Amino acid sequence: MKKTTIVDKAFLIILALSLATCSSPVPPTERDLGSISTPTTESVSPVEKVASPTTESPPQMEGEFADVVFMNGVVLTMELDPSQAQAIAIRGEQISAVGNDEEVSQWIGPNTRVIDLQGYTLMPGFVDGHNHLFSQSQFPDQGMWDVQDLALSFGVTTSAEAGVDAQLLDQILKVDQDGELRLRASLYLLHATSCGEDLGFWYQDHPPSRPEGAKLHISGIKVFTDGGSCNRPAVSFEYVGEGHGDLYFSQEELNQIVMDAQGRGYQVAIHALGDRAVEQSQNAIEAALDGSPNTPRHRIEHNALVRPDLVSRYTEIGVVAMIFGKFPACFFVGDTSKFKYLTPPEYISWEWPYRTLIDENPGLHFAWHSDYPVFSSINPMEHLYGMVTRKEVSEDGVTICEPLDWAIDDRLSVEEALRFMTIESAYSLFREEEVGSLKPGKYADMIVLSANPLSVTPDSLKGIQVWMTMVSGRVEYCSSEQQWICPPSGGGEED
Ligand SMILES: [Zn+2]
Repeated sequence: MKKTTIVDKAFLIILALSLATCSSPVPPTERDLGSISTPTTESVSPVEKVASPTTESPPQMEGEFADVVFMNGVVLTMELDPSQAQAIAIRGEQISAVGNDEEVSQWIGPNTRVIDLQGYTLMPGFVDGHNHLFSQSQFPDQGMWDVQDLALSFGVTTSAEAGVDAQLLDQILKVDQDGELRLRASLYLLHATSCGEDLGFWYQDHPPSRPEGAKLHISGIKVFTDGGSCNRPAVSFEYVGEGHGDLYFSQEELNQIVMDAQGRGYQVAIHALGDRAVEQSQNAIEAALDGSPNTPRHRIEHNALVRPDLVSRYTEIGVVAMIFGKFPACFFVGDTSKFKYLTPPEYISWEWPYRTLIDENPGLHFAWHSDYPVFSSINPMEHLYGMVTRKEVSEDGVTICEPLDWAIDDRLSVEEALRFMTIESAYSLFREEEVGSLKPGKYADMIVLSANPLSVTPDSLKGIQVWMTMVSGRVEYCSSEQQWICPPSGGGEED
């Protein structure tokens, strides 16, 4: 029987014990933001956080009152204390207070817009740790505005573009310069392509840059080390009658890439689907860190097939592990004859082993990524549904594919999955001090949902709708049927 993680237990216990207590605002200047030169090493793991609620005296002057207050709701903070609240106050781009209705009502002034949530759920916007959203803008009739619209309509407020070439970089920089970046974007510049072509340090004029509160960050580089794309197999162990997947670099070559990028201050995100690529990536990160903690937060992407002897090495090295949300149940039950790298039965337990990885690496940082459009939906609710049920909504948007027996044991809880999709994915992007949870001083990136993910049945998760998406206090998406819940678009502006 699978054991519940320490993280999970701690979260649940604290969830049950927590009262909706008001937290004090923290001046933005005092916050310790992860920076290039001195990345923060503070863990956001819930077992290590100390709850120290304090009560802030309410505003005394008109200029201190909130612009918007949401009340009478279920506020999932993704913090430990309080983990749930009723109300939240926003002033300008940031959160002023989180607490119960009575506490937060003290932030209501003569010009504050007060919105009654009527019991509906408000939570942090989703942080997608790895996708290819902006690259989709290069298709006809789909501009930068449209792809942002798509993500925002599903509640994604931070998006990491995992593989930016020179042309796409120019386009995204222009969107930012024109003031048309509507969600936060963290960029990973492409060092080696999906076919393994080494592009070298073409991006050296674009050093890592993560200014506090900026929508656009240049966070790191992306390296492909095996297939699973470019029509090449990724499942890479050797077995009778089959070949083994491609590795794009020798160990020495990959070590050099990671070392050089680290020396220039970049975080490195390494695509590794198959076990040989996972092992090679672990080795390269271990060599670059040379015994030091993983303060550059080097990541391994996907981790789709992990040999048992590699599981404990994640903690030994301190790798940040990026995990898929959707489970490819349709792939496993469908006609797979065209795929030449199906996992043979004796290795099937190595596939998508996230439950095992999480249980055997307590305290390690795991983060969700949609990998849209590799998975055809960016909708976080379908990914949450996939993590919790291992079922998949097929590309037609209707058909449900059931998981095979071997996959069912690897389900995650809603509580842990939501953390991977918010505060933990923010950590993977050096943004956990800005977003990913709701507390005073953080940016008001939040969403209102049609139902509480912690209350509905697992099968209902996929149907939860996003009614409002707010980024930095500004409404960037409002469902046409639920206008009542959205403050006017100017509601987040400074007076
Ligand atoms: Zn990807």
